[in-house]
This record gives sequence, structure tokens and C-alpha cells, in this order.
Amino acid sequence: MKLICIGRNYADHATELGNAVPKEPLFFLKPDSSVLPHRHPFYIPAWTRDVHHEVELLVRITRNGKCIAPEFAHRYFDEISLGIDFTARDVQAQLKAKGHPWEKAKGFDGSAVISRKWLPKSRWEEEGWEKVPFSLKKNGKEVQSATAESMLFHVHELIAHVSQFMTLKMGDVLFTGTPSGVGPVADGDELEGFLENEAMFRVQVHG
Ligand code: ZN
Repeated sequence: MKLICIGRNYADHATELGNAVPKEPLFFLKPDSSVLPHRHPFYIPAWTRDVHHEVELLVRITRNGKCIAPEFAHRYFDEISLGIDFTARDVQAQLKAKGHPWEKAKGFDGSAVISRKWLPKSRWEEEGWEKVPFSLKKNGKEVQSATAESMLFHVHELIAHVSQFMTLKMGDVLFTGTPSGVGPVADGDELEGFLENEAMFRVQVHG
């Protein structure tokens, strides 16, 4: 199982980090060892001083496919969920400055929160799942919120783009990028994710 993560998929987040808005989707991978086990706290690694939360809408691939056309991409996922792409922002900045890959800053143990709940997109058949609001609360205060409607590249385009380069396999999870409001986490923080008004995960941070 691979985790495919999209970078800079919301204009407001690209701007807050001083990045240009991309002309095509930007993606990277996290290894399966990065998944934070359910009910486990997130431990800030000793080698970073600046881990950021990035709440993201998740899509789980249900069929194998390559070179998928955007108009058929909807057939490759049935459910959506919510997660966090924890990022060691200080290490990422050093890697970016050198033009090096981001894996150390993005793929470390525990850096991928995946909710245990997956919600069928058929639940929003009429209005469209893209309109469903999602959010992250840090210590009870909302810090990030968006809907998929404000993505620069729709999930269907993401699936089409990524599958030109790598075969998507059943069980792969797509992290679709984070909206603005990312920020550091500290010892004692509690992070809670919501999709529509449903609580999707709660993560305790230890430093
Ligand atoms: Zn991210």
C-alpha cells in the first residue's frame, strides 16, 4: 500500500508558505511505515523543532488502474476520509533549499494520520461530496477548514495525473493536499478532525 500525497493543492496554502501556485499537480509518497496506529499518540521526533499539522481529505483507491482518464477517475474510489500529513517544516525547508527529496521531512514514522472511518461518497449523491466541509481543531479551536471545491486540482484530475506515472493499486490512499492554517504542534496538543460534523480522529501530541 502506498500513500500518495499532493502538495500545494490549495492556492491559499501555497501562498502562506511563499510557494508558487503549481501548473500541474505536485506529488510525493509516504511509506506504509508512516501510518500512525489508531489510538496511538503522535511523538514529535527528536531531530525536528517544527512539526506542522496539515489536515487533508483522503481518498482510498478501490481498483487497480494506470493512465486513468479524468472522466473515469470517479470509478476508482467509493469513500472519503480525513487525515493529517505531519511535516517537519524545518527539515523540509533545508531539503528544499538543497533541491533534495522531502522524504525525511514527510515520511517519518507516525507522520500519516488516517481516520479509521471512511464515509461513502454516495452519502452526498445530490450535493456532491466536494461540498462537504472538513476541519481541524487544535485544543478545541478551529485552525484549518475547507471543502474540496477550493482545490486547485480536483481529485479526478489528481488520479488521472498520478496514474500516468505510477499504477494505482487497490488500498492506496491519496492525501489530497492541505488548505491554509497549517501550524506547529507542541507537547500536550490535542488535534481533532471533522468531516461534515462527524468526528473523524483525535490525536494527542507528545514532545
Ligand atoms: Zn500535505
